[in-house]
Amino acid sequence: MPLTKTRFAPSPTGLMHIGNARTALLSALYGQRFLLRIEDTDAERSRPEFVAALLEDLRWLGLSWDEGPRSEEPDPAWFQSQRGAIYQRYYAQLEQEGLAYPCFCSPQELEISRRQQLRAGQPPRYSGKCAQLSAEEAQRRRAQGLRPTLRFRVPKGALVRFEDGIRGPQSFATDAIGDFVIRRADGSAAFFFCNAVDDALMGVTHVLRGDDHLANTPRQILVLEALGLPVPQYVHLALILGDDGAPLSKRNGSRSIKQLREQGYFPIAVLNLLARLGHHYDSEALMDLATLKARFDRSRLGKSPARFDPAHLDHWQQLALKSAEDPVLWDWLHAETRAIVPERRLGAFLAIVRSNCLFPDQAHEWARALFTDELKVDSSAAEVARQAGERFFLAALDAAQLAGEDFDAFLAALQTRTGTKGKSLFLPLRAALTGRCDGPELGAVYRLLDPHRRHRRLAEFTYASE
Ligand code: GLU
Repeated sequence: MPLTKTRFAPSPTGLMHIGNARTALLSALYGQRFLLRIEDTDAERSRPEFVAALLEDLRWLGLSWDEGPRSEEPDPAWFQSQRGAIYQRYYAQLEQEGLAYPCFCSPQELEISRRQQLRAGQPPRYSGKCAQLSAEEAQRRRAQGLRPTLRFRVPKGALVRFEDGIRGPQSFATDAIGDFVIRRADGSAAFFFCNAVDDALMGVTHVLRGDDHLANTPRQILVLEALGLPVPQYVHLALILGDDGAPLSKRNGSRSIKQLREQGYFPIAVLNLLARLGHHYDSEALMDLATLKARFDRSRLGKSPARFDPAHLDHWQQLALKSAEDPVLWDWLHAETRAIVPERRLGAFLAIVRSNCLFPDQAHEWARALFTDELKVDSSAAEVARQAGERFFLAALDAAQLAGEDFDAFLAALQTRTGTKGKSLFLPLRAALTGRCDGPELGAVYRLLDPHRRHRRLAEFTYASE
């Protein structure tokens, strides 16, 4: 059995988003070898900085490729913009065999023809105007300085059949496909062509991609068959929808991997979300990449659209935080946060972060509240403290004096002195000590606060509530 080789073939025209990261991940999980190719034939829109960003995102996710570029330096082995000479050989082969022809139709002519067809209720396709130009005529037009595109001659009256790895048997009538451009007028390779040719030349056995490419597949199969190149198995992944049910886009919640990274999501959280967008695992546990791969099952790729729910991402983030080791969590914090957490408080602080935060920004807020004097008191906390009144906080000061670091003793003493318990005991304390009405377990807060700071905060509220 030959190895299963999959690939990720991004066009570096923007940042990697959830949709293409899902394609990359499922491709990496699906096969035995994983290849990366840069489809940068669109010279206007492709940018080296997007290649660099892509590599960075893939590395951050931990998706290493067995074959492909090592840096953003354009390498003819993996960057389509550098592979013109290779494509040229295949264009020549098709032209010699009469399977491709130069087309001199101008963009304006094509647009007019397209509109006419649409008006007549027909699907727009190339009319075939240049399909029968003689070699002399083509030569004459070239001599006039006209630069033709090269079109693939689609056979008439045939069916292209293939078995899609998810959607099963597919069949497309060639009569519905117009002759299509395989080389642009500027000489660059068109997607249908170089994408298929490279898959074949690079030994890709399985092509996983979004099902927005499904209708492109018959064209690509025709090209490969005409060239006598191997046709891979196509696996078209169901679309990802946003939480409004529309295809996932920037408008309904898609985010770039860079944004997720900068916000503080852990790569394992993102991976666990992506791996379940269109693929089902029995286990709801957080899995590392190796486990996601070991438990990946091709037959569990779904046909129906997957829905991206930001709350799911946060769920995985929470699990990732819970399972992160102290040093990992420590590194994840902002440098400013690390600077204010006293070393002896580190373990206790990280425990608080683990169960109360999702992002480093939130951890920073807690570090500031616990280890600095910059206490921000929100309006509901101020109100709760005001209602508790001066007597409550005087009693609290007294109880704290008596109990020292023993939180239970402190509570018992305060309860006896004030006659309050439950929420009316906890909430004003929390409000005074943290400036908020929610947050970590109160005993942990109490113990983490430096006794002077604790004292000052309780004292402040004796005046504030006057
Ligand atoms: N460069 C193409 C894209 O980003 C690749 C499509 C494919 O995977 O075949 O859409």
